[in-house]
Amino acid sequence: MSGESKETQTDLQEEVAQVRAHFRGKGFRWTRQRQTIVETAFETHRHFSAEELLRMVEKKIGPGVAHLATIYRTLQALEEGGFIEGLELGKGGRLFEHVLGHSHHDHIICLDCGALVEFHDEALEEKKAEVAQVNGFEMESHSLRIFGRCKAFKQGTCEKAFKQGTCEKAFKRGTCEEALQRGTSEGSSKQGKCERKKKEGRTGQPDH
Ligand SMILES: [Zn+2]
Ligand SMILES: [Zn+2]
Ligand SMILES: [Zn+2]
Repeated sequence: MSGESKETQTDLQEEVAQVRAHFRGKGFRWTRQRQTIVETAFETHRHFSAEELLRMVEKKIGPGVAHLATIYRTLQALEEGGFIEGLELGKGGRLFEHVLGHSHHDHIICLDCGALVEFHDEALEEKKAEVAQVNGFEMESHSLRIFGRCKAFKQGTCEKAFKQGTCEKAFKRGTCEEALQRGTSEGSSKQGKCERKKKEGRTGQPDH
């Protein structure tokens, strides 16, 4: 998710050529649609899901042309080839990110709302290399994910909690943006009578 991406258009085209060779080696047909999918995945400088990639591709070629199954197969082949990295979110969700041009970083992932934080800790990096060495390995690469629960979500104050309609606490208090926008009073929210709650069918669900 860094704005400090170093890749240029030439890098991109070279990488797409590498991908094409990789795909052909695997017996995949190289179609215009596949190229668009690959280019779109590489142009993005944030973490994306297969569904999000499909939406980005559809912005270029229109809806109904590319299929999610093709997106999945393409992402899988890209990941196997080391062009992108997959990231388990811990709740069945999976995100991807482009490898080239992005400096190494690790992730903290929220189990409640899927919030994603990237970090780089040099002391940790050195420690990991050291641990590998102590165990008779030379570290080639690693991937560290810390799973936890973000404070903002617990407090119901993060945007994601609002969007996903999962911030029961804030909603109950009638303090979340969604509740305010809808003009649902604290009382009606508490009784589970507000519009959003009915729509989401969340009434009666336990707090997170
Ligand atoms: Zn690291
Ligand atoms: Zn969270
Ligand atoms: Zn990342």
